[in-house]
Amino acid sequence: MIPVRDDLRALEGYHSKQVDVEVRLNTNESPLPPPDGFRDALAAEVSRVEWHRYPDRAAQGLRDDIAAMHGVDPSQVFVANGSNEVLQTVLLAYAGPGRTVATFEPTYQMHAQIARVTGATVVEGERGSDFTLDPAEVTRVLAEAQPHVVFLTSPNNPTGLVEPRERVDQLLAEAPGLVVVDAAYSQFADWSALDMIDEARPLVVTRPFSKTWSMAGARLGYLVGPAWLVSELEKVVLPYHLDTVKQLAGRAALRFTDDMNDRVALLVAERDRLSAAMRELPIDVFDSGANFVLFRPQTIAGRDVWEQRVERSILVRDCSGWPRLADCLRVTVGTPEENTRFLDALADIVGGTPT
Ligand code: PMP
Repeated sequence: MIPVRDDLRALEGYHSKQVDVEVRLNTNESPLPPPDGFRDALAAEVSRVEWHRYPDRAAQGLRDDIAAMHGVDPSQVFVANGSNEVLQTVLLAYAGPGRTVATFEPTYQMHAQIARVTGATVVEGERGSDFTLDPAEVTRVLAEAQPHVVFLTSPNNPTGLVEPRERVDQLLAEAPGLVVVDAAYSQFADWSALDMIDEARPLVVTRPFSKTWSMAGARLGYLVGPAWLVSELEKVVLPYHLDTVKQLAGRAALRFTDDMNDRVALLVAERDRLSAAMRELPIDVFDSGANFVLFRPQTIAGRDVWEQRVERSILVRDCSGWPRLADCLRVTVGTPEENTRFLDALADIVGGTPT
């Protein structure tokens, strides 16, 4: 065996256990496929693809459409294969060896993971036991670590908490480097930092197509940020990284905004129903502005609940072994039928009746 890079030896990959079950509520995908009209529109576009030609390297049409949706200039939009690749590109450009990246834990594990893969040092700030972020902790971490990049995930994953606008203001006022707001779930919340984007601010906001646009299969995500930053990212990203079909899929999806907004509204209503019903059970339920809910059963170990659910063919995310998340599980909001089945099984496992 040939030894891998020294700094990668201790790293583990990021995996979500996939089990063959009837109700899959573990990876925060949309439970609903895109509308039929999307499939037909995309099929027609795909039939006209010039397969012998490379894709549009700048993905200009897709950028133009995303920019129009957010009322920004296309030069302020960067598109990649899922928001994970967006984050990776940002970190390749602004983190790397000799640089520091700050996160506030628990949060989305890929921020620290990708930062480490680029060779950066990761400094982990701590959230409180209710997973809120104390402004004094933000000040401490920024002052001590002087990070080149700081992440804020809002709504946070896996906790669901929406950060207040003041927290982004604070980061912008106190951070010496780039502020990345990962807004993967912001369409399910009541605000996002997108309207704070300005050429004078070192702020980027990242968004995926996988959750709201029912397009996890396509791997597409983007960021909105200052044009000067987007042009630095172009130096890092591989040529033609975004294939023609994906660019077409993204543009086709944006023509179905109303259908997508209907899906978001349904999922928000179902999330609130799930949270309210779980609160009737012996369970700690954390407030969520996302398409999932984090919870901690009071009477039985989180891991046991997870196993008993799998026996009932329902898969949720087992966070119980993660640092700071003892006994916690995360359920993605599914269809109304899936959610009801989830709730009935949960009541059966922990005792009690959901209302
Ligand atoms: N950011 C957060 C906070 C996420 O939870 C996820 C998906 N798990 C991503 C980014 C990645 O999204 P994508 O599917 O666009 O790569």
